[in-house]
Amino acid sequence: MPIDYSKYPDNWPQMRQTVLERAGNECEVCGLKNGQEVWAVGVWTCKGRMRKMRSVWFRDRRDAERENLDGKMKKVKVVLTIAHLDHDESNRQVSIDRLKAMCQLCHLRYDAPEKSRRRTDKKNRL
Ligand SMILES: [Zn+2]
Repeated sequence: MPIDYSKYPDNWPQMRQTVLERAGNECEVCGLKNGQEVWAVGVWTCKGRMRKMRSVWFRDRRDAERENLDGKMKKVKVVLTIAHLDHDESNRQVSIDRLKAMCQLCHLRYDAPEKSRRRTDKKNRL
């Protein structure tokens, strides 16, 4: 989904650059470098009674091949994104310490519980 930058602070490009420099251009969660290539495979995970396919990334192709059970392995280029730790992308006063550089996978995982909560709230309002 495209990002609506009109919600972001006017100095967002500078804030983004400051966070990336602080992070040394690496994901502040897993340490992957911006632009680095990794191998993605889908693995089955269980959460309670739910069985779910989850993407897992490997730096080494052989490690990915070992875990690749469904034959769908692909190369992924790491793209660092800036995560709002408070999940409030409309906070135009957000401070740098409430932002974190994350690769796309860490960002998706960090945001997943909040997105689920928002979906539930939306359903409950209907
Ligand atoms: Zn990461």
